[in-house]
Parts: sequence; structure tokens; C-alpha cells
Amino acid sequence: MAKFKGNDGHLNSSTLVNRRDLLRATAAFGAAVSVGGTAIAQPAIARTAVTQPDTAPPAGGDILIRGGHVLSMDPDIGDLAVGDVHISNGAIVAVGEGLDAPGAIVMDASDMIVLPGFVDTHSHLWNAFLRGSIRGDDPVRGYFPTTNRAAPLTTPDDAHASVRFGVLEALLSGTTCINNFSHNTRSLKHAEAEIEAARSLGIRSRFSHGPGGRDGTLDFASVEEVISNWGDADPLVTLGVNLRLPAADILQSGGDAETFVAEVRFARERGLPVSLHYGNSAHGLVDLMERHDLLGPDILMIHTQGFTLEERELMVSRDVQFSMSPAIEIPYSTVRNGYIQFAELEDLGASLGLSIDASSAVATADFFTVMRALQWSHKQRGDIDRMSLEPRRIVEIATLGGAAALGMGDRIGSLTAGKRADIQLVRKTDINMAPVLDPYFSLVYSGQPANVDTVIVDGHVLVSGGQPVMVDTADVVATASEAALRLHDELEAIIAKG
Ligand SMILES: [Zn+2]
Repeated sequence: MAKFKGNDGHLNSSTLVNRRDLLRATAAFGAAVSVGGTAIAQPAIARTAVTQPDTAPPAGGDILIRGGHVLSMDPDIGDLAVGDVHISNGAIVAVGEGLDAPGAIVMDASDMIVLPGFVDTHSHLWNAFLRGSIRGDDPVRGYFPTTNRAAPLTTPDDAHASVRFGVLEALLSGTTCINNFSHNTRSLKHAEAEIEAARSLGIRSRFSHGPGGRDGTLDFASVEEVISNWGDADPLVTLGVNLRLPAADILQSGGDAETFVAEVRFARERGLPVSLHYGNSAHGLVDLMERHDLLGPDILMIHTQGFTLEERELMVSRDVQFSMSPAIEIPYSTVRNGYIQFAELEDLGASLGLSIDASSAVATADFFTVMRALQWSHKQRGDIDRMSLEPRRIVEIATLGGAAALGMGDRIGSLTAGKRADIQLVRKTDINMAPVLDPYFSLVYSGQPANVDTVIVDGHVLVSGGQPVMVDTADVVATASEAALRLHDELEAIIAKG
């Protein structure tokens, strides 16, 4: 784990004197940290009392990440084989070699790769807790039948438990920002439960308010209420929408899709970015959106499969953003129109991010596997004059690319002075990583969530030594499991009734 050092930079008895500073610096979460490999007894945590992190920066709580292999993802800075990152008041203030930061708490990163946190451009956190009920592609208990059955039964409390469960897994996997594509926003209470749950763990999130179930439409009043209550409530929470697409026969006949068009315009007028699932039945969508002047940089097109060349060129020319979920898209390639069009979009210079999609199915929340899956998908293409896909580019898509796809490229995604401090430290000495010679290859070909040692969001240390600082994992798991088991019984009863 990253060793926290005293201000003198050495691990010694004075380190323990600084324990109080350290705990303050970890945002008073009742930190579970260790200093010099020695676990420190933590202040008692009321298991259910943590509703939101103390987002106030700790007084004098600057952090200096020292001596790591820094992958800044900033082309002007590049990589530093032995570099430092100085964080102050939640922002990165300097990245360089041998930085001086008097008074800062020093984090020894000599055995670590230091890079921006992963940006998950689309996840359905409301169903993360259904993992145990989902049985691969089983026609009765697969992902789609199970989530369709569970959606109307999911209460706001269930959604809260599931989102906490999903977000904590994501944080422990090095993800610092998630676009929560909530396509089961059944009520304002459901929406606010999901927002509160993500916020309670300190992750950076976009809540993309969706329809109430897969057949629903957007509840404008609920969206307005969410804007009113959350629009400016927390700098870590931003808002958007996700929309159900028009029916296939309407799209393919070139017919009107008034509801969809009105929903996109409603969102755009309020500055809310729009996340859309492209899919098997979406042929004609790009044409419809162009006819109504709906293509733009606030549109995130998810699942880059099945587009024609003309559609790709048109969307790129309109600055549409793209999200690929390769760990899901490979096994569901037939559902989603075949191969992932990474090479085609990369060739056009498209703005690309990666995503988990559903941690309850196939991929868990493992962003390392998602990066590998992009490589697998690309290598499998025998039908194109395949360009080389270097691991550095994949890490860039997983971090800076995702930030740009969510319109946050000016705030996060790279280790750049002035950006917010969303950072992960990955151990180089773990058995599946060592020896690390090229950190990009190691991250993409060897990395696992278990190698993520430290996760920092907006300057707050949320994960230390691979453990959450502010919550008890067992508590989060127990709460989600209890809700999931209750729901599982209900689902099985429905199946038994036929
Ligand atoms: Zn999805």
C-alpha cells in the first residue's frame, strides 16, 4: 500500500504524531488507513451514519504523492519515471520531479503507478445488486429478463443499496467518475436515492435521469425537481438524462418520433447531456437526429456497433461523443450489430470513452478487464487493415477520453495543474504485476482491481491500502445482499407462476 509519511518524508516514530493530520486529510471519514504498514485503530464509525462525505478540504491538508511512476496523460507533461503530484484544496497544483510542498502530507508512491482515475462513461448502477440473480444468457434468468422483471419491483431503498454497492466496487477498481445511466428512474424518490447513494461515497458522478422502466418516457416534472434540488448542490454531482429510443418501425420508416425529439430538446434547453443506447433496433436513429438538428457534443452514443460509414462521419462531424463497453459488447455482439467499430471511429478522430455498462453481468466493475477487452476486440478484427492499438492509447481512452466524452475534460482525466485531483495509485509489486517495465503494458495486460492501492477523488483519499476509507465494505455488501435476496425471492415467485 502507499505508505503515508510524516512531513519529514521518513517513516519513523514521528509519523504516528501525524496520524491526526492524516485522518483529517482523509476527510474525516473515520479512516481505515495504515502508516508504515501498521494498521491504525480507527475512530468508531456508526455503520449507517455515513450519508455524505465531509467535502471540506482539510485545513493544511495538502498531499504530496512522491516518487511514483507518473502517467500524467497530459501531452505537455508526459510520463515521469520518478515523479511527484502535489494536491491542495482538492486540485492538482503541480506535477513534476522533486517537488517541494512544505507542510504537505507525503504519500510514498515509490512502488506505484500514479495515473488519473478511470472514467466510466455508462453504468446502470440500479441493478448492480442483481448479480446473483442473473444467469448469463439463460432465456429466463439472463440479464434482460431478470432486469425487466426486477425493474418495477425495485424500491428507492433498493436503488440506494444497489448504487452504493456498485459505486464502492467501482472505487475499489480505480474508477473516480461514473455516468450513472439510470434507466429505471421510476419516481423522484428513486432518482434522489441514486444521487444520494453515489454522493455518500464521495465519487464524482453524473446522474443521468431516465425513463421509469424500459417502456417509459421521461418524467419532465421529476427532472425539473432533480435540477432544482441537485443542480448546484454538490460540485461532484452533475446531471443528465438518458432516453428510450423511438420504436424500430418508426426509425426505419423515417416517421416522426415526437416524444423522443421533445425529450432531447427538453434536455438540451436545460443544459443536460443526453446518453443513448445504440442497438439492434436503432437503424435510422442518426438520420432522425440529423433531420431534427439533435446531433451535437452533448449526445453520448453508447455501443459503437452497427453504424454505417456515413453515420459515423456525420456524428463525428457533429462532435457526438462515444462510449464503448467492450466486455459487454463482445459477448452480446449479435444483439448489438456485430463488432465494435473502434478502428473506424479512431480513424475519424472520434471522441471515445470506455464503460462498464452492467457490473451485474459479465464484467463486474473491473476497468482493467474492460481495457483488455478493447484490445481483444481490436485484435480479433481480421476484416480491416488493422492499426496498432498501443496500451497507452487504451489507458488514455479509459481516463482522459472518458472525461472528454462526459464533457469534463477540462476538469478531470489527466494529471494537470489546475484540474481536480481524481487520481489512482496502482501497486507495481503485486504478483500479477511485477516486474513493471512499461507501466501501460502492465496496466492493460496484467492489471486487476486488487492492485489498486489508493483512490483520490477531488483531493479526498477514498481508498487506502485497497480498502475504503469512509465505509465498511461488509456493511455495504450486507445491505445490498439483503435487498437482493428479498427481490430474488419475488423474482422466483413470478417465474414459478409462469
Ligand atoms: Zn447500457
